[in-house]
Amino acid sequence: MAELDFSGRTALITGAASGIGAACAQWLERHGAAELVLVDLDEAGLQELDLSCQAKRIVGDVSDPALWDEIESSLTQLDHAVINAGIASGCPIVDQDFDGWRRMLAVNLDGTFLGLRTSLRVMKKCGGKSAVLTSSIVGVDATAGTAAYGSSKAAIAHLARIAAAEHTGDQIRINAIAPGRVDTPIWTKTEQFQDLEKRLGSREAALESLSDAAPLGGFATAELMAGQIGFLLSDEAWNITGSVLVSDGGYSL
Ligand code: NAD
Repeated sequence: MAELDFSGRTALITGAASGIGAACAQWLERHGAAELVLVDLDEAGLQELDLSCQAKRIVGDVSDPALWDEIESSLTQLDHAVINAGIASGCPIVDQDFDGWRRMLAVNLDGTFLGLRTSLRVMKKCGGKSAVLTSSIVGVDATAGTAAYGSSKAAIAHLARIAAAEHTGDQIRINAIAPGRVDTPIWTKTEQFQDLEKRLGSREAALESLSDAAPLGGFATAELMAGQIGFLLSDEAWNITGSVLVSDGGYSL
């Protein structure tokens, strides 16, 4: 495969302060991106990202439509978007409180819709090329204990396919990635993982106890996900649109 080249390109990334989003920012910079528009709630995390390309760091909640109105009016060029910000938690449906359900859908699904809508509006005007939405393997596979998270991620995968169908005429490609387990801070933010950490004594032990779920073994890295997202964004993937790339080490087989 030819070297993936993003020279001169502008890309927007949500959830850019940490994990997969931060790795995407670094990957795109390494592959020549000229400007990155980075969106996250976490101001300190955004500031800590060490980037030498031009970077606009925007602090805000992706589920807030006003944030996207502002971003839309400030953007004149956008070649790529990685709509990736998300939160996670899990419990059986009978224990799921409605506020938690609403918050999950607001951040994961509303936030993805709003970010995608803004990106597509700008891309349509300026000849933008591609977007990737971050779904999850539990949005493809039914997994007990993931009602809110899994439903939000299933809707994101479907949204990517619908967007792809709507934008073939604009030559804008939209795909989703459905990662299995990736070693990022999102795990540490969930109550279930914190309990596991306490029980087993360390983060490493907790990760290890979950790592046999994927037949190929272990957790993926954020950098690996960034490379796969980068490929989907790139011109090398010019005929791939409306796909959901399952990247789960065989977890769902
Ligand atoms: P992460 O927690 O490291 O990063 C998520 C980022 O999203 C954080 O920087 C956080 O501040 C930001 N964010 C959360 N809510 C936000 C909001 N309302 N507005 C703006 N920013 C917000 O986790 P990650 O693993 O890098 O997650 C990235 C995406 O990958 C998420 O959508 C997640 O659901 C998905 N994913 C992760 C895994 C995994 O195992 N890590 C697996 C499948 C899918």
